[in-house]
Amino acid sequence: MSKYWSPLVEKLTPYVPGEQPKMANLVKLNTNENPFGPSPRVVEAITVELNDNLRLYPDPEGEALKGTIARYYGVQSDQVFLGNGSDEVLAHIFYGLFQHGEPVLYPDITYSFYPVYSGLYNIEGKTVPLTDSFEINPEDYKQPNGGIIFPNPNAPTGRYLALDKVEAIVAANPDRVVVVDEAYVDFGGESAIKLVEKYPNLLVSQTLSKARSLAGLRVGFAVGSAELIEALNRVKNSFNSYPLDRLAQAGAIAAFEDEDWFRATCEGVIGERDWVTSKLDALGFDVLPSKANFIFARHPDHAGEALAKGLREQGVIVRHFNKPRISEFLRITTGTADQNKRLIECLEALV
Ligand code: PMP
Repeated sequence: MSKYWSPLVEKLTPYVPGEQPKMANLVKLNTNENPFGPSPRVVEAITVELNDNLRLYPDPEGEALKGTIARYYGVQSDQVFLGNGSDEVLAHIFYGLFQHGEPVLYPDITYSFYPVYSGLYNIEGKTVPLTDSFEINPEDYKQPNGGIIFPNPNAPTGRYLALDKVEAIVAANPDRVVVVDEAYVDFGGESAIKLVEKYPNLLVSQTLSKARSLAGLRVGFAVGSAELIEALNRVKNSFNSYPLDRLAQAGAIAAFEDEDWFRATCEGVIGERDWVTSKLDALGFDVLPSKANFIFARHPDHAGEALAKGLREQGVIVRHFNKPRISEFLRITTGTADQNKRLIECLEALV
């Protein structure tokens, strides 16, 4: 505590991002980055901006990128909101769309930024337990709330909720905003964006960090009714009217224009994920069915923490959460074929 700090700062419990270690030859499978890298067209588009345009301010509204995303998903530009990574989009959602005085609902096992934003904006958060098989049960979201948010697929479990069940949650809460955080949806899920025309209370957030391999560029967006997007714009313009720099806007447009690269790399990740799953099965792990670019698995005879430590000693970094219900699990990002082979070899030596 410093005498210069606001009491608001004193109360914060900030999010701790996954580590970015700098060791040589590391197999880094801890932060769900895409092993394939972005489309070469992204690099070309960014290079043009770098060479020609850095002295100019970016478009504060990101109209060209919004238009690209709107066309891609078959919505209008005023139904798209842009943010500096979907983390920023989510922050603005918590500020602008969730009611105070009633709890925001999210699963007990989920993306750990949600409780952080609840704390930041002084909104009560209420966790809704996942089922025994780590699934979201729509029936549990029929209770008074100030808004609902969940990832689909969920993180860190990777479990996917079918679209009819997502719709059941949205339909049961017409007076509240339901946010579906689709950071990982392109690895085998179906986007709820197709439901936004029908439900003015549905907001879908997505990121270019995962399937489009641009975690370093920081681009996220949300799609929903123009009414919800207008609220987010008001919040954005009260914090920072330039959420995306020129490089990010140009790179993101190019990423959406290279559909072949997007499809091929998503299929590559899915193929590798399924290969790792079969190998983990063979080693006796319980592996939750994943539609994300990572796998959540536990071994009946080996503690999660010990396995994570054993892997680290061999230069393979995975994520272990010291949290109730999931402390026996490892969350393993899908890597390249070589990285995944190395992971399995290292685990073979441990179990
Ligand atoms: N939502 C979920 C569920 C995530 O796992 C992540 C990545 N940590 C994000 C949102 C944020 O991604 P970004 O800010 O890179 O768009």
